[in-house]
Formats: sequence, C-alpha cells, structure tokens
Amino acid sequence: MRPLICEIRLNYLRENYLTLKKIHGNKLLAVVKANAYGHGAVRCAQALHDIADGFAVACLEEAIELRENQITKPILLLEGVFEAQEYDLVDKWDLWTVVHHQAQLEQLLAHDWQKPATVWLKMDSGMHRAGFFPHNFAAAHTALSQSNKVAKIVKMTHFACADETERGMTDMQVETFDLACDGLTGESSLANSAAMLRYPETRRDWGRAGLALYGIAPVSEHSGSLKPVMRLSSQVFAERVLQPHEPIGYGATFYTKRSTRVGLVACGYADGYPRRASSDTPVAVKGLRTKIIGRVSMDMLTVDLNDSHEGVGDVVELFGDVISVNEVAAAAGTIAYEVVCNVKRAKKVYIS
Ligand SMILES: *Cc1c(COP(=O)(O)O)cnc(C)c1O
Repeated sequence: MRPLICEIRLNYLRENYLTLKKIHGNKLLAVVKANAYGHGAVRCAQALHDIADGFAVACLEEAIELRENQITKPILLLEGVFEAQEYDLVDKWDLWTVVHHQAQLEQLLAHDWQKPATVWLKMDSGMHRAGFFPHNFAAAHTALSQSNKVAKIVKMTHFACADETERGMTDMQVETFDLACDGLTGESSLANSAAMLRYPETRRDWGRAGLALYGIAPVSEHSGSLKPVMRLSSQVFAERVLQPHEPIGYGATFYTKRSTRVGLVACGYADGYPRRASSDTPVAVKGLRTKIIGRVSMDMLTVDLNDSHEGVGDVVELFGDVISVNEVAAAAGTIAYEVVCNVKRAKKVYIS
C-alpha cells in the first residue's frame, strides 16, 4: 500500500483548545470551517465537543454536516446566509448566524422565525472585506435589538493584519470598533488566533480560533505552547546514486554538485503537497532533516539522502513534529492555512 499517511492527533487538538481558551479567557469558538482546515470537521468537532463553547463554520452545508453527526453545541455561520431561504434551515438546525450586510439584515427581520435568532453583527473596522461600516453599525444594531425576532446580538469584527509585525493596522481597527460600539449593549468578539496571542486588548467575550487550534503558530513567538495536530508522512520507496552534474526530475531544474544518494518518496502535488516547494524545502527522513531536490511531481518527490544512513523503507515526514508546516509554506511562497487545507488522497489516521 502507498505509505502516505495524514495523522490527525486529536489529543493535541484538545490540548490546543484548552491552551487557547486559557490565553483568551471567557469563551472560545473552535473554527472548523473548510473541513477543519483539512483535518476533518466531524472528527475534530466530536473530539472537542465536551470542552468547546461552540464551533464556527463558513456555511450552512458545513453546519448541517456537524448537526447530523451529533454536534449539539452552538454553531456560528461566519458568513451568514447566502440567500434568504437559508434562514429556514438556520432556524430548524438552531444555528447562530453572522449578519454582515444590509440585505442579510432585512431578510433576517422579514423571516418568520420559530424561535428568536442569535445574531453576530459584523463591523468592517478597516479590513474592507465584509461588515457594516462603523457609521452604519449602530443603526443596524438598533434595528436588530428592537425586533422580537432577535434573541441576542454579539458585536464582532475581523482583523486584516493581526499576524503581521506592524501593529498599527490592528490598533486602529480595535479603536474604530470600540468607538463605533460606544453605548451598544451585548457581548463582543474580536480575536482570531493571531490576535488573541498578540493583542490582549482583543480578548473579549468570545474568541474565534482556527489556525492555532491546529497547532500552527500564526506568529513565530508563540510556536512553543501549541502542538501540531496534522502530521503528513510517507516513506522512501526507492533510492539511487547519481554522479556529479546530473539532473533530477521534470524540467531538469536541479543538478547534483557531487555524488548524490537520492531517495524517492511517495508524496506529490496530487496529494496537496505544494509543487512550488521544490528544491531546498525541508523534509525529515527518520527524524533527520534533509531537503527536497528537483521538482515535486504529481505522485512523487525526491530527497537528498547524503550524509545519512537512511534509505528505502524509512519514514519521511513532510511536516508535523520535526518540520513545521510554516516552513513548508514559506518555501512554497504560501501560508500554512493553504498547505493544510489542500492535503488530500493521503490516508487519514485519527489518533486520540
Ligand atoms: C477563519 C476565521 C477565523 C479563524 O481565523 P484563524 O486565523 O485561523 O484563527 C476567525 N474569524 C473569522 C471571521 C474567520 O473567517
């Protein structure tokens, strides 16, 4: 059998949740959108169910999948509904919904609710992707709070640059949010993973943790306390020795500089491993760091086995304990979010 395995350490997921909840304080939503960032939404939500205050997903389909699998805790739709009829199902499945623009608000108020809705009202405090402008926020809040169709309103916003070194943008967004919320009652929710780790003033009633929940550090200074939930590993299934000045792989992009022992590994871009992570991206063979040489192919990649006694049959970690997914992402010119979301075809093994 092809040896590519994607281990999901559910014990680490639980530890990370508790670590983040302690850091944030108050309540914490576990963000399990996009199939829990590639980790498997149902299994992750089930593993967190007894400790999580609630879950967040991107859309109704993702929420219903959780409800159909015995997830009874609160579930928030981070983008709200895409069309008015979806409010029927929001009501039926007892979901919480974001309202981030005027049509969503009007449709919600026009809907015939069986039980009053819990609404997370989103402000655009500066990211300019979604949300009510600060100068329209109080009016939206008032419209909802005056309706008997609304049970509860949570004020929320999202940051554009919480994981960047430059702090000015986030400071400005917090200030904008607080000014525009002046006098408006109810709970609030500001922080994603990076914000709750780096900006104590963003820790309010509810945090929303995604990346860090999966043990991936959004900012380098916090890598220590989080444990990587996903570990992608395979094996060396063939090896060869090449003379100096010989090319390897598609495009002949890499030439050996010396006599080189090359290991062939069962993992490629069809498994979601980034093709851009060709020569020089770190991998670990039997726990020892080495690197990819040549281009990543669809089903295989090649690694430098020189200076080690490792070879055929040895485990290759693409990322996990020795190699962080952040390193792979950096080598591929992308972010860890994308790398874990893309993993596919690998056999998933859940460890609790
Ligand atoms: C995805 C998402 C989050 C989680 O962000 P991380 O950076 O993964 O912690 C939080 N809030 C909103 C609105 C999101 O869409």
